Amino acid sequence: MTEKEFMLAALEAISHSIIEHEEHLNHLDNAIGDGDHGTNMARFSRIILSDLPELSAGNGDLGEILHHIGMRCITEIGGSAGPLFGKFFLQASISNIGNTSMDAANWVLAFDDGTMGVSMIGRSTEGEKTMLDALFPAVRAMQEKLEEGQSLPEIFLAGAEAAENGVEFTKTISANKGRAAYIGQRSIGHQDPGATTVMLMLQALHKTAIEMNVE
Ligand code: ADP
Ligand code: MG
Repeated sequence: MTEKEFMLAALEAISHSIIEHEEHLNHLDNAIGDGDHGTNMARFSRIILSDLPELSAGNGDLGEILHHIGMRCITEIGGSAGPLFGKFFLQASISNIGNTSMDAANWVLAFDDGTMGVSMIGRSTEGEKTMLDALFPAVRAMQEKLEEGQSLPEIFLAGAEAAENGVEFTKTISANKGRAAYIGQRSIGHQDPGATTVMLMLQALHKTAIEMNVE
């Protein structure tokens, strides 16, 4: 069972990681898009960091925290990443409204619902060189570990590793969604920035779960 402290620590770790990788994410987006993905995500991360005290003082409803993050994405991040990540967090929040703790099944369901939300709003699926090439494999890997009865750190590790492989996979395919679709075949060889952000998020989540000794 995990609680508000873990979720807020994870959000903090995710935000720091994204800010640390701002230039790298811009560089990746520069190759196949318009070079703003790092700027967009770092802006969002700084807002989350400034919201942490308020979230920490709140009632500990984890669904409400996820909902808050989703709304922040939609209103504060520019580009397509805003509505897409926004939808991810809003969908992830739904099954957790009223929950002051989340077990492994809750976490995996949140990722599954969030990923379906992105796919729905983006009219996109796996194999199109987007964040979904990290999200879908991560969800499958986490579901597998959940069924095996593994702990949350193991589940997040499997998700992070699947996302890492997903990022590598995006290098091998051409884009047919988002801005990168404009350059089509010329996007081959470059990794997708949004998938890279998903990977950073899962790595930070795993690291936080280890540090905080969650079960
Ligand atoms: P923009 O493309 O508007 O400049 P960003 O650069 O912040 O926005 O985000 C680009 C990322 O958004 C891409 O790397 C990709 O992962 C993701 N993306 C774009 N379009 C879609 C879509 N239709 N479905 C899923 N993800 C998408
Ligand atoms: Mg961009």
